[in-house]
Amino acid sequence: MTANYETHEHDVLIIGAGGAGLRAAIEALAGGARVGLVCKSLLGKAHTVMAEGGIAAAMANVDKADDWRTHFCDTMRGGKFLNNWRMAQLHAQEAPERVRELEQWGALFDRTDSGDILQRAFGGHTFKRLCHVGDRTGLELIRTLQDRGVQQGIDVFMECTITRLIKDGDGIAGAFGYWRETGRFVVFKAKAIVIATGGIGKAWKITSNSWEYTADGMALAYEAGADLLDMEFVQFHPTGMVWPPGVQGLLVTEAVRGEGGILRNKNGERFMEKHDPKRMELSTRDVVARAIYSEVREGRGTPHGGAFLDISHQPAEYVKKKLPSMYHQFKELADVDITSGPMEVGPTCHYMMGGIRVDAETAQSTIPGLYAAGEAAAGLHGANRLGGNSLSDLLVFGRRAGKAAAEYAKSAAGSALDSAQLEVAEREMLAPFEHNGEYPYEIHRDLQETMQSLVGIFRNEKDLRNALEHLEQLKPRVNQVRIDGSRMFNPGWHLTRDLKSMLLISEAVTRSALARQESRGAHSRIDYPKLDEAWGKMNNIISEQGGTMALRQEAVREMPADLQKLLAETK
Ligand SMILES: Cc1cc2nc3c(=O)[nH]c(=O)nc-3n(C[C@H](O)[C@H](O)[C@H](O)COP(=O)(O)OP(=O)(O)OC[C@H]3O[C@@H](n4cnc5c(N)ncnc54)[C@H](O)[C@@H]3O)c2cc1C
Repeated sequence: MTANYETHEHDVLIIGAGGAGLRAAIEALAGGARVGLVCKSLLGKAHTVMAEGGIAAAMANVDKADDWRTHFCDTMRGGKFLNNWRMAQLHAQEAPERVRELEQWGALFDRTDSGDILQRAFGGHTFKRLCHVGDRTGLELIRTLQDRGVQQGIDVFMECTITRLIKDGDGIAGAFGYWRETGRFVVFKAKAIVIATGGIGKAWKITSNSWEYTADGMALAYEAGADLLDMEFVQFHPTGMVWPPGVQGLLVTEAVRGEGGILRNKNGERFMEKHDPKRMELSTRDVVARAIYSEVREGRGTPHGGAFLDISHQPAEYVKKKLPSMYHQFKELADVDITSGPMEVGPTCHYMMGGIRVDAETAQSTIPGLYAAGEAAAGLHGANRLGGNSLSDLLVFGRRAGKAAAEYAKSAAGSALDSAQLEVAEREMLAPFEHNGEYPYEIHRDLQETMQSLVGIFRNEKDLRNALEHLEQLKPRVNQVRIDGSRMFNPGWHLTRDLKSMLLISEAVTRSALARQESRGAHSRIDYPKLDEAWGKMNNIISEQGGTMALRQEAVREMPADLQKLLAETK
């Protein structure tokens, strides 16, 4: 009974038009599927466009000794060995081909003198590995994929938000959503769906993420019955802006350190010497973030509560050429000229390593016909992501998801959309107009305060239990959230649904963080400060069981002998 709704039908529906969604759409189309692509903002505005530093791929254009094996080992070490090793292997092996393909489709990278794609150093990468376009790599990536996808014939639905997946028994039948402009409902029939909706940064107060990062895809998948994996691993990027307050959290790309930036405390001490004397500023993000946080906590922070990051020892013209966005960002927003003095920086919530559990080869979730790729999916990065490994992740696993979804759709019959589920989805969206509880903005602020202060860089049992209590108290408030006005472009109304997703996924993060009694990568428990061997062999799995959130542990799949040998040899 879809007669009442505007309805579209495709073999494969992609939710999300960032790098992962676009790459999936291109591949599904190449596989012969009719492809629809939905995104809640305008095409080209996805979070991917903000990516600055580069794409990690072992192309060996600058450091000839680089190859996939070293990239694999770096990724596993960075992720503290909790990564899905098969994903890490496929990622390292396929990333160079995905970048070359991007170049063939028209992407213009910075170049070496001999005309190859230039690569820069980044934290945790043994070799210069990040292919880049100044500090605007994401823009070039999305422009290229978008041109390619649109030219190949993807049906694009912009400013359209999906709020529910519609099931057919155990499988997938379609999705329900609304047009942001008119508020009218719309349904999509599809044989297979790829979720590529990104992360959850907007659940924290200080974040580098845009308004779109409200955990929608993870919540959609969970509500449809999919497993979520290792949700405790949330990356706090070490360098966000700390001043002025209006731009707190805005990212200061790792490329600043990649190009030689030095971190100092207020006494002028280069404090990374204490934390990672070998790699210094190019240590992994978890280590650098904790180092800055500790300097501030121990009274050695800058006037606005951060650390100094200085690139002014490099020639001014070089800084402007390699870091143009950073130059303008600081000049315009903070009145700081980074070619002549230091920036003030501090940790900011940046990236979600946890997410929808997927199969390494096909990116299929635990629901047949439902796939996930990019930041919404989990596994590749383990306990901590290396910079540059997200953009390559989008290309490698976006492609795999699109390919597998198109193949799945070929043999799937497709089914009618269940009217009862559509009615539930509609009622859910209309309910806030009938409630008389609070407006969504206050509840969102309280959620952010809770996650920032109790589920941040350093965690302990007391804070996490406290956070769970706070989240519990937010539930009735979210269930009674009210909104005024009409359905015509009403951002407050949109937030009522986003809040539900953020609250749900914040709970998943907190429960997983409480369970993992060790410190590993981005998850730092001050009451369990060391790595624990047993936990190192365990994934946390979250799923919905009889209406409640259930958490269980599953053993990490054993790595084959050849990969174990590789890691042992490169210690
Ligand atoms: C400032 C910044 C700089 C970064 N720099 C780098 C870098 O240099 N290198 C690197 O590797 N990584 C970097 N990252 C990380 C990387 O950019 C992201 O992890 C990556 O772009 C995520 O891509 P994605 O395709 O998964 O999601 P996104 O690009 O965020 O796309 C998500 C899409 O989903 C849509 N969407 C969301 N919810 C819904 C819904 N309910 N219905 C319909 N559509 C929906 C959105 O509209 C959007 O189109 C950076 C991140 C930030 C914030």
